[in-house]
Amino acid sequence: MALSRHSVATTGPLSVEEIVQQAQEFEFVPNRSLKNWLRSAQLLLTEAAICEQDGDLQKAYLYLYRHAELVIGKFPKHPEYKDPKLKADLAQAQKVVQKNLIKLEQWKPRINQQHQRYLKAVERRNTEKQRVQEERLNDVRQFHANDPLRQSSIGSEDGAYDRDEAQALNANEHRQLAVDLAHNEIRRRDASKQSTQRAGLSPSTVAARRQGFVAGSPEQHDKSSRHHYGFDTVNEGIREAGRHLQHRSKREPPKVDANQRAPGPSSYQYPSVPAKETAVDWRMPALQPGPKSESYRPPPALPTKEPPDGGRYQQDQYVPPVPPRPHQSGSPSPATATPSPPPAAPSKYTFKPTASTEAGTPLRTVLLPPDLRSAFLNLAHHNTSRNLETCGILCGTLISNALFINHLIIPDQLSSSDTCDTTEEGDNELFDFCDSNDLLVCGWIHTHPSQTCFLSSRDLHTSSGYQIMLPEAIAIVCAPRHNPDWGIFRLTDPPGLNHVLNCNQKGLFHPHSETNLYTDALRPGHVVEGPGLKFEVVDLRKG
Ligand SMILES: [Zn+2]
Ligand SMILES: [Zn+2]
Repeated sequence: MALSRHSVATTGPLSVEEIVQQAQEFEFVPNRSLKNWLRSAQLLLTEAAICEQDGDLQKAYLYLYRHAELVIGKFPKHPEYKDPKLKADLAQAQKVVQKNLIKLEQWKPRINQQHQRYLKAVERRNTEKQRVQEERLNDVRQFHANDPLRQSSIGSEDGAYDRDEAQALNANEHRQLAVDLAHNEIRRRDASKQSTQRAGLSPSTVAARRQGFVAGSPEQHDKSSRHHYGFDTVNEGIREAGRHLQHRSKREPPKVDANQRAPGPSSYQYPSVPAKETAVDWRMPALQPGPKSESYRPPPALPTKEPPDGGRYQQDQYVPPVPPRPHQSGSPSPATATPSPPPAAPSKYTFKPTASTEAGTPLRTVLLPPDLRSAFLNLAHHNTSRNLETCGILCGTLISNALFINHLIIPDQLSSSDTCDTTEEGDNELFDFCDSNDLLVCGWIHTHPSQTCFLSSRDLHTSSGYQIMLPEAIAIVCAPRHNPDWGIFRLTDPPGLNHVLNCNQKGLFHPHSETNLYTDALRPGHVVEGPGLKFEVVDLRKG
């Protein structure tokens, strides 16, 4: 079981107890470093923050609860728990949990209300169905069953609850809608983030206001129900553990000031990592690989001249410089000149998962900008021509239950002909950048300058780290000298993910006893190319 496995919301709104049960369903692998687990925990906070902003308290509750469970229930069992180097980060995570437990308690009445409302709607629907069935049986002579008027009236009552429910779409069949929706939503979030910062409102207040407006239900403004505070035993358990940790941390005050890092969920005021950040305009001719992105050709065959800086393609040669914060840039592309697509409320749509793991768990659809690969190959070109690998990290956000990759981050890295590893500093920078921009790590992309297109055993280990954080995380391999020259993969689950997570071998090309460790994620799979989906390139490499 991967960490951020999500199964909320395929049916109606769940009760707090049901969410808690799902939140506890994940596997904790102690041989994964605690530092990596801390990062996974941080990403849960990012996922929760996105869901909270979107007014999806059900999922936000699930992720925050899982975070609390991880930090308070699992971390103390990890062999590195006493490592002094991690003390400050652990103390910080525990502090965030204390804050979140209060938040979770405050959300409970609203979540249970949504659940009750749903149950009532289902009950109404069932009673109505039963009534209609009985009528049909009793009234056969009048052929009620074929009366179109009756049918439509049944339909409308049936939809009493469903009207508030988002319309479920297949992102693969509605790619353009998905892309437009994402562009609108990202713009809306940026604007809302800025005005929220100005107004000093918490994201939950904003979400509550918006939800009240969208749902338009008088029940939701029923103040009396706000006082239904109660404890279920599971929550009480976490609270108990929390108190225990609080005492413990009083006895052992952290040596490093825990305030060095800002708390996760309210990361909106993080200072940005000073990044060499450039927005890629996919319409720029210099970045246009041709009519199809497949037309990128391997370096030996390329008749291109070396870029003037000695090898690196700098996007800012082609694109105007971008203001300091990533999303504020809006789009420095011709898109700003064209009228925006009609405002679509993302909460009106939900992209239904169309693929699943080998165990049958649904995988949310991942939308990938089709031009990301050629932009990456341009950035990697200098390394590739010297037979060195290059890697990049795919980051994105969650919109209407689909993951949109909208950032390509090139971390500081060390390369060889068969490996490419993020430096420790590069790793920290990457995750700080994601924290401060509410980005989810959706996988990675790397080159095989001379090897064919496959996942090496080392690649499998790298991928397992991303996939345990996000089950939908992918690995894109570019092998420009071979055919096929690229592929999008994920570890199978089972057996791939757990097998690799439990493998302790470190070698570059070590054997795995299990076969069928990874599979294609595009044809078929949960990845869809989103035509025109914009993305930003952030190059954090030094020198
Ligand atoms: Zn590789
Ligand atoms: Zn292994």
